Amino acid sequence: MSERGLLIVFSGPSGVGKGTVRQEIFSTPDHKFEYSVSMTTRPQRPGEVDGVDYFFRSREEFEDLIRQGQMLEYAEYVGNYYGTPLSYVNETLDKGIDVFLEIEVQGALQVKKKVPDGVFIFLTPPDLEELQDRLVGRGTDSEEVIAKRIERAKEEIALMREYDYAVVNDEVALAAERVKRIIETEHFRVERVIGHYDNMIKATVKR
Ligand code: 5GP
Repeated sequence: MSERGLLIVFSGPSGVGKGTVRQEIFSTPDHKFEYSVSMTTRPQRPGEVDGVDYFFRSREEFEDLIRQGQMLEYAEYVGNYYGTPLSYVNETLDKGIDVFLEIEVQGALQVKKKVPDGVFIFLTPPDLEELQDRLVGRGTDSEEVIAKRIERAKEEIALMREYDYAVVNDEVALAAERVKRIIETEHFRVERVIGHYDNMIKATVKR
């Protein structure tokens, strides 16, 4: 009997380091889940590969896919669309393989409505000073933009209550390890295996 895979949604506030922790998780082969490559309309950065880092598409193409109902979720973030193509997720889950999404919070909340039995993991900053240091360290934003991002991060942190797990990103390797352990343990939840045992009991022949 092949169970459907779990949909794992890894999310958290802007600037918390979701991408870095995700890369750390996938840098070693000790996991069974697959990464769902997102689609975006933002320009490709140097070193990024189409189909590996993202599917880079035009706004028109992206909006067509939205209209055709082919996105599991999508959000507009800093003027660009980001979204999860539905077909890859469904096909992979149907094969019994877990799928890992790394997405921002608005998208995660959409997935929660559509797939309530997904595993929702929220990455948190150890504190707001740390987040501010990280945003300043990137060197890409003005003081005013950083202040706005911090305000937004506070609102986003409050959304943690919609998730199943909170993981602190105090150290990348540790955070990655915690996420992997959560996913492993999730498979042992009684509600996820009870169907199998119910069938086993029903199929038992009386002697
Ligand atoms: P970046 O442009 O730095 O690669 O990503 C910006 C933000 O978009 C990050 O917070 C990232 O997690 C989020 N993101 C990446 N892919 C998706 C997606 O498919 N859906 C949503 N909602 N957000 C995404």
